[in-house]
Amino acid sequence: MHYYSLGKQSPNVDFKTAAITGQAPDKGLYFPTTIPQFTPEQIERFKTLDKATLAFEVMKPYVGGTIDDTSLQQICAETINFEFPLVPITENIATLELFHGPTLAFKDVGARFMSRCLGYFAKQESAAILQSKPNTVLVATSGDTGGAVANGFLGVEGVNVIILYPKGKVSPIQELQLTTCGQNITALEVDGTFDDCQAIVKDAFMDAELNAAYKLTSANSINVARWLPQQLYYFFAWQQWVAKYGDQTPMHIVVPSGNFGNICAGMMAKASGLPLGHFVAACNVNNVVTRYLQTGNYEIHKAVATVSNAMDVGNPSNFIRIMEIIQNNFESLQKGLSSYSYDDAATASAIHRVYKTTHYILDPHGAIAFLAAEQFIKEQEGARSLILETAHPVKFPEVVEEAIGQTIEIPDSVKYLLGKEKVAIPIGASFAGFKDWMLSKAGS
Ligand SMILES: *Cc1c(COP(=O)(O)O)cnc(C)c1O
Repeated sequence: MHYYSLGKQSPNVDFKTAAITGQAPDKGLYFPTTIPQFTPEQIERFKTLDKATLAFEVMKPYVGGTIDDTSLQQICAETINFEFPLVPITENIATLELFHGPTLAFKDVGARFMSRCLGYFAKQESAAILQSKPNTVLVATSGDTGGAVANGFLGVEGVNVIILYPKGKVSPIQELQLTTCGQNITALEVDGTFDDCQAIVKDAFMDAELNAAYKLTSANSINVARWLPQQLYYFFAWQQWVAKYGDQTPMHIVVPSGNFGNICAGMMAKASGLPLGHFVAACNVNNVVTRYLQTGNYEIHKAVATVSNAMDVGNPSNFIRIMEIIQNNFESLQKGLSSYSYDDAATASAIHRVYKTTHYILDPHGAIAFLAAEQFIKEQEGARSLILETAHPVKFPEVVEEAIGQTIEIPDSVKYLLGKEKVAIPIGASFAGFKDWMLSKAGS
């Protein structure tokens, strides 16, 4: 298994190179040269496999021999070492809770898998004395990504992580998740917006001096090592779905979508033979894809801030991978994917209504998925659907507590953060200041 660049101007590479470099030299996203095909017999067996074994069997073809089986088994077991329970909310809508990982958001799985792969490759290189510069992961975050990456990479030898986050624009728990790790994790508090953070990271990858001093890589979902393991949710969901509703009930899936990495991973799982139903992308008012499906015009725009801020994306980077899966055919796209979009008022009122009628507490991203599921079911009479709940509601206390009229209990798994001290280095919003700081660190 190799990976080609969707920019079509770079040579094919193996999984290791794709994971270490993130993006192809032509700035294209990497995509597997073949999508593995699971046989009906394998799929049947998947129904009852334990999560770690299933994860290993799904990921093995994608890793293509660059990680030995024993190590990959261990990486997979560590990656999925928490629960992904399927919980019915109403008669026809169930949720798969993806927020039981250490940072309470679904990005934990991708971050954990990627960090362990990079750690494995770093060890290999230091054994062969190939390692001349430290591997440095640069991430810009609006909240969730940074926490998951910090937690996933903490203590991984041979890899340093630098996280840029916008000052005052992440929630208190998110900030503690970013700034209290220490060790190989450094948090930079940028006096600017998320877009400024992202612009600094982009400039860094293009900067000759920084690339001479560091081996830089990104940890967002363009990296195949973070994107591909997200397929596992759909396998775990399907196992529980079949056990609960039988394998004759189609599992239609609604995914809260921003950069479209998660939903695209689900579509890969389906393309590799997992019998999934229709996909629905649930979006906030950043709805490029919703409008594209309606009009056929793909018009990117500047991101608009909403209460479901992990989906505030004006130009979803993984959509091009979805187009590759369906071979750039607009009719196939419409056949397999729908999309609905909702604003903040609808989001808050859905959180309120679902809590009042079912006692289930949705987070703002899950609330948008719930609305999309209701809409989809209305159009497809008798259908059942599954929503992915991508974050724990406690990560968005202002919106959720206001909507349900009470406070949310902080789960034990994050209570330990509350007594910790924030450590962050303040920097300005310009690339020049960031670069000076990086170069001053490089020698030390
Ligand atoms: C990142 C994130 C999303 C969006 O996922 P994409 O893969 O970028 O589409 C949705 N919800 C939450 C809580 C997130 O953190």
